[in-house]
Amino acid sequence: MIPGARLILLGRQGAGKGTQCVRLSRHFVVPHISTGDMLRAAVREGTELGVMAKRVMDAGSLVGDEIMVGLVRERLSQPDAVGRGYILDGFPRTVPQAMALDDITAQLPIDVVIDLDVPRELVLERLSSRRVCSDCGTNYVAVGVEKLPWICEVCGGDVIRRDDDTPEAIDHRLDLYEQQTEPLIEYYRRQRRLAVIDGVASPDEVFRRLTIAVDSAHRAS
Ligand code: AMP
Repeated sequence: MIPGARLILLGRQGAGKGTQCVRLSRHFVVPHISTGDMLRAAVREGTELGVMAKRVMDAGSLVGDEIMVGLVRERLSQPDAVGRGYILDGFPRTVPQAMALDDITAQLPIDVVIDLDVPRELVLERLSSRRVCSDCGTNYVAVGVEKLPWICEVCGGDVIRRDDDTPEAIDHRLDLYEQQTEPLIEYYRRQRRLAVIDGVASPDEVFRRLTIAVDSAHRAS
């Protein structure tokens, strides 16, 4: 039986979290829980949460802690997450969210918190060429010679630039990451639950480093 896992992936926007989470989720057979994807789904569905979240997301700001904690609490109580675990991507993003998560996971604690480390200059470059399928979320890199409209190879959806991948919003999100999310790295380091992984390598190599970090956390527990 393939062991499950309870993981948090931290890292700047554009560090490759999305891509690696998909691979980790297949490898450990656990759901990939991305709070950004949950909010984008709410935007598509036009729910009350979606209307509010769209405004906040387009500005590159953060949705309130209380709403986010409620969403994650609900998701982590589902049978798949309770039974096998999960990979949390995009949550927690603030210290209050991390404290709430400690409470939510008191019975089944997180195995390891991974900081996927890629320098700001490099993610800026990556984000400005990032494109994404508006239906299934597959990531693409624009090199400037794509035929338009760009159709997703996986599901046939439209490949677009995310509304929050404008240069102003990217800058704002990276500033917010430094102010609000980097303190989390210290928070988890103090709890001795942090593994820092150098994310500047090929996707295969980064994946190899990540699975080694998770396996060694499993062996230590
Ligand atoms: P992401 O796809 O993780 O980059 O998230 C996209 C946007 O969703 C962020 O820029 C925030 O506006 C919002 N968001 C996602 N996760 C959170 C969170 N944990 N706390 C607050 N806002 C969030």
